[in-house]
Amino acid sequence: MLLQKQVSVSVLRLDTINPVVSGNKLFKLHYFLEDCMASDHKTLLTFGGAWSNHLVATAYAGSITGIRTIGIIRGERPATLSTTLLQCLEFGMQLKFVSRSVYTHKSTPEFVESLSKEVGPFTLVPEGGFDAKGARGAALIMNLITGIDHTHICTACGTATTLAGLMMGSPKNKTIIGVSVLKGDSDIEERVNALMGTGYDQLQLQMLTGYHFGGYAKKTDQLIAFMNQCWKQYQLPLDFVYTAKMFYAIMESIRLNHFLPGSKIICLHTGGLQGNRSLPVDTLLY
Ligand SMILES: *Cc1c(COP(=O)(O)O)cnc(C)c1O
Repeated sequence: MLLQKQVSVSVLRLDTINPVVSGNKLFKLHYFLEDCMASDHKTLLTFGGAWSNHLVATAYAGSITGIRTIGIIRGERPATLSTTLLQCLEFGMQLKFVSRSVYTHKSTPEFVESLSKEVGPFTLVPEGGFDAKGARGAALIMNLITGIDHTHICTACGTATTLAGLMMGSPKNKTIIGVSVLKGDSDIEERVNALMGTGYDQLQLQMLTGYHFGGYAKKTDQLIAFMNQCWKQYQLPLDFVYTAKMFYAIMESIRLNHFLPGSKIICLHTGGLQGNRSLPVDTLLY
């Protein structure tokens, strides 16, 4: 099909940077880590749910830099911890569980103040790295593809921090494509605007919508079949939460003639593969 449509697709494998930690998460942490290393407290505090890739990435980054990490976890402590949280503990992160209602107010000055009374001073990383600093870190991903000829770059979007980073770091003549993995994906442009701090060129950003397969972390048999097909055909391991939806959206859009002949698309494989471990063992070929 790609030959017939005269469109090329390449995949930037950020997943191979680290087997546990999602590639894009480390980039988003870059400038927070830099600030934290320069501080006296050398403590990083952040937030997430029990399956948060962002939490593991923060814990891992702490373990290799010697920075103390604290994770504020949404919901009461369960009897058995998720593999994600166990991994955080292995990387030396201190976990603090708070009720969902407290968690909702996690960004208020009062709550942050109460945390620093409890654990001392820290560098705060918003959930998912959703911050201009996180986006500037994600912009560093562009350094990996300097000199590679392309017309489009594509990423899966959760908080849209990675997407905003690509917008910041990319030459203006390249189109940036976002595929939202959330059902309510209508505020992505607003988020990008907030993260970039300046107006952006709306023509440069394209969203492929309607590829959430039911919502965040939802999946269908069709999506699973597509993942197995990509493995057979390209030896490309995708995860069902993010990258499978992104890649499906790209392939389907090519099929529907969304891209002009001659388009050269780079898709970011942002990682997240450990999420597949929550599937029954014989679901995937990999
Ligand atoms: C977190 C994550 C994303 C989404 O990144 P955002 O910057 O929050 O949009 C995409 N892919 C994978 C594998 C992730 O873990």
